[in-house]
Order: sequence, then C-alpha cells, then structure tokens
Amino acid sequence: MPEAAQLERRTTELLQRLIRFNTVNPPGDEQAAQELLHETLAAAGFECELLSAVEGRPNLVARLRGDGDGPTLCLCGHVDTVLADPGDWSVDPWSGELKDGCVWGRGALDMKSQVAAEVAAAASLAEEGWRPAGELLVVITADEEVGGEYGAQWLCDQHADKVRCDFMVNEGAGEILHFNGRRVYGVCVAEKGVFRFTLTTEGRAGHASIPRIGDNALTKLAPLLQAMRDRQPSLELSPEPESLLTALGLDPSDPEAAVREAADTDPRVAVLVEPLLGVTLTPTMAHASDKINVIPAQASLKVDCRVPPGLGREHALAKITEVLGEDGWSIDFNEEVVGNRSPIETPLMGAIRGWVEQADPGATVAATSLPGFTDSRWWREAFPDCVAYGFFPQREMDLFEAAPLVHGADERVPVADLGFAADAYVHVCKEMLS
Ligand SMILES: [Zn+2]
Repeated sequence: MPEAAQLERRTTELLQRLIRFNTVNPPGDEQAAQELLHETLAAAGFECELLSAVEGRPNLVARLRGDGDGPTLCLCGHVDTVLADPGDWSVDPWSGELKDGCVWGRGALDMKSQVAAEVAAAASLAEEGWRPAGELLVVITADEEVGGEYGAQWLCDQHADKVRCDFMVNEGAGEILHFNGRRVYGVCVAEKGVFRFTLTTEGRAGHASIPRIGDNALTKLAPLLQAMRDRQPSLELSPEPESLLTALGLDPSDPEAAVREAADTDPRVAVLVEPLLGVTLTPTMAHASDKINVIPAQASLKVDCRVPPGLGREHALAKITEVLGEDGWSIDFNEEVVGNRSPIETPLMGAIRGWVEQADPGATVAATSLPGFTDSRWWREAFPDCVAYGFFPQREMDLFEAAPLVHGADERVPVADLGFAADAYVHVCKEMLS
C-alpha cells in the first residue's frame, strides 16, 4: 500500500500544478495539463496515448495491463474548467496556493482534485509493482464543461475500443452529508435528463397608449409564471432518491412527507433532495415586445426542465400540463436529452461501501442522482453494461460547504480530503482488480 502521507503530498502537489494550467473552457487549451498527466502515468508503467479531436485539446487514455482475467476499471476525470473572474476571488484563481489547509484555485473541486487523486493513486500502485487482474484504465477528458463534443462524446464514438470499460469512477458525488446524527456519503449512479422548452402566448399588437386596443401576450405569461412559482410537478419515487431517503432515515414510501420531515430537520437537505424526486420546472428567460410602446402580439418564456433518468418528452409534457393546465400556451422543446443510470447494487458499490466502512466507521453510502450532467452519461450510452458512478469522498468539507464553491469564487479543497480520496481510489482499484 502506498504510504498515506506520501499519497496526500503527491496528490496535493499534482493538483497545484494542474490548477496553474489555465484550462478555462472555452477555449479549454488542455494540452499542457494532459502532457503532465501523460508523463506521470507513463513513468509509472502505464501505456499512454493522447487522442485529439481538435489540435491542442487532447484526451488522455492510460492503460495498466495485468496478467489475470478480470474486469476493466476506469478512473475518469476532466481537466477543463469553467471560467473565473479574478476580481471575485481572494487569491489568484490559477495560483494553486496552499492556504488554511486548502489548495485554492479554479478546478480545486471541479475536478482537478479528483483527477490528481486518481492519477496519484494509479501511479503509486503501478510504481510499487502492483498489477491488476484485468485492466486499470485512466481516462482524462477535455471539453466536459461544454458537453464533451471533443472529449467524452468523441472518445466513446471514435475510440470505443480504447475506452470501453466494465466499471467507472467519475465525478458527481461523495461529499459527506450530516443529517439527524447520520453520516452519509453519496455515490452518484444516475443523471437527470434535460428537456428545456419555450412557452409561447399569443395576442394582438396595438399602441401601448390605448391598453385595450390590443391583446397583450405578455400579461398572459403571468399565470404561467405564478403557477411555477406556487408549485412543482407532483413528486415521484425512483431508485436513487429511494436509496438516499432510506440512508437519511426518512420513509421513501411517501415522498411529500419525507421532504417535509427533511425540511423540519434541515431545510438545506430538503432543497437538495426534492429535485431528485421528479420533474423540475425553472423559468429563466422571458421575451415580448421589442418596443416599449407596442403591445406584444407574442410573448415567450424559456424554462429549464429536468426529468428523472430514463424518462422522455411524454413524461415531461404530462408533468408540465399538471402545473400549467392545457390552455393558453404552446410549447417547443429546445433540448431533449434523456438521462441515464447504472444499477445501484454492483461490485463497485460494494468496494466503495467497504472503503467507507473502514475509513469512516459508522458512516454509510447512499445512491444518489445528479440534476446536472457529467461524462458518465456518454459511457453509459455507448456501453450499456458499463457501471459508471460519481465518487470523490470529502469529509473535511461537507456537501453544503462544497456545493457553492463549485463554479463559484474561492473554489478550494482541504488537503486532508485529497489524501482521503486518493486512499479511496487505491482501495477501490485493489478491491475490484485483485
Ligand atoms: Zn466537472
């Protein structure tokens, strides 16, 4: 086993170096960061390839072959980040500075930290002479933050044989959740679908100085907005929130009551759990007349809508009608991406659970889903048998501290959590591939 302190130090140093490469996407510019990871894993004995869909934006595929018969486990991550406005930060977002026990900078949580922990764990194992039964893959993608056209989507499409795997550990969950005396680590097994749409209302134009000469389409948005302010579609149970509610000691058979009970104990938990329990509708953009003195003949409202994994347009439409009624509007879907999931009880969940029980006695794991999107979606779609989970364990910083820092100012990660996560990846590799 790699020594714990050494693994933590190695992960920390690697993260600091990764943060110093500005990989804000767009444009991404991932080349230099990927070369560093390539060099680290190649020196440890991995067969490495940099595969680029476009110049200067390679994906890294690193493979450690074993001699036995076993599954292929992939440690996955992305090195691109969202933008950072230095004016909002108390440190330079690309400094990788070590301060107050944390590494600071853009990507410290999402997700150069996990990339550093995965690469440090994999390289340390290989350097010690450990070899997998089966194969250990490390795949670090470019272009995740804008959807993966040059990253995961392209790899799964153009290089399926090189990135095919049975199990994958990626981003999506892992921060500890304290609730009612329980300590729960989430494992993200699914991602919700995205069904963004535009609602349109119709009227008749006229001069704004004579209000009733026209028929104002904009005011017809008011009842629709009001409806979405007052309520969300009725809650519905699926395997992931069922697992999470159970782990929190809440009764999943009555989701409404469970959310109320969560809110009584800790309103922050209710805010996070509720969106996992069904379709969500969030109006974000409105447009009507182009001139202040013209009554609009048409008004439109854009709504961000997320749908539980596996469900499509018909289900979304039924839930939208439940909230908005059937009359007075028309709808166009602008994006339709069905979410997907992996099963909950698998050898990979067993390995993660085993590590949690040993690393943090008394704590438990729960499956959860993500309202957003990760590269895992591409792997599940390309390789239907691939079990893809999101897991980056953190306990120094809990879910409520970490969540606002992701894509926010002063993003940082405790050094202790870097060592904690690297230890998890060493354990999972050995457990799955020995
Ligand atoms: Zn990410």
